[in-house]
Amino acid sequence: MKIGIDIDGVLLDTIPAFLELVNKDKGTAFTKAAITDYYFGDIIGITDDEMWEYFKKVDNSKLPLCDPSAKSWIDFLRKRGHEIIVITCNEEPRATQLRDRLRALDIQMDNFIAIGPNVSKLETIRQHNVDYMIDDSIRNLDQVSTDCFPIMYTQPWNAQTKRFLRANDFYGIVDIIRCKERLKKYEVE
Ligand SMILES: [Mg+2]
Repeated sequence: MKIGIDIDGVLLDTIPAFLELVNKDKGTAFTKAAITDYYFGDIIGITDDEMWEYFKKVDNSKLPLCDPSAKSWIDFLRKRGHEIIVITCNEEPRATQLRDRLRALDIQMDNFIAIGPNVSKLETIRQHNVDYMIDDSIRNLDQVSTDCFPIMYTQPWNAQTKRFLRANDFYGIVDIIRCKERLKKYEVE
């Protein structure tokens, strides 16, 4: 199977590094738990433009994995014949910086696709026949759920939705995929 995986908020834990910059500048003390909406400018009191400026200042070469065990579970999936396709809406130069960071963390990818901001991931999903998509954005999963099996990666900004099966870590992702693959035997064509 082809498994699409998002970067920010799924593979790499970007928000804490972002908030550290904001907190230092504004004298605030926001933590990831406070970010209960994907569009969180209002929550921390900054405009969209300011938000992008802060994102640009994040040192992508130091971002940690959301789940320290992500590498071993990705290796597990690849050993069983699954393909890992990393799909991000980032544009250059950040897209390459993120790819380099994932490589430095020894995350094995069969494909890396940067589609640019404000573009639906649906076209990419269709083009590459992606079977599963793991994302932390409700909007992204809504857009692709007609053509692949969506898995929500739990973060404070998506905790409110019950529309998708969700995984709290990479073991959870593997668990959902294995269950779904086993159940296919019983599905009527
Ligand atoms: Mg994301």
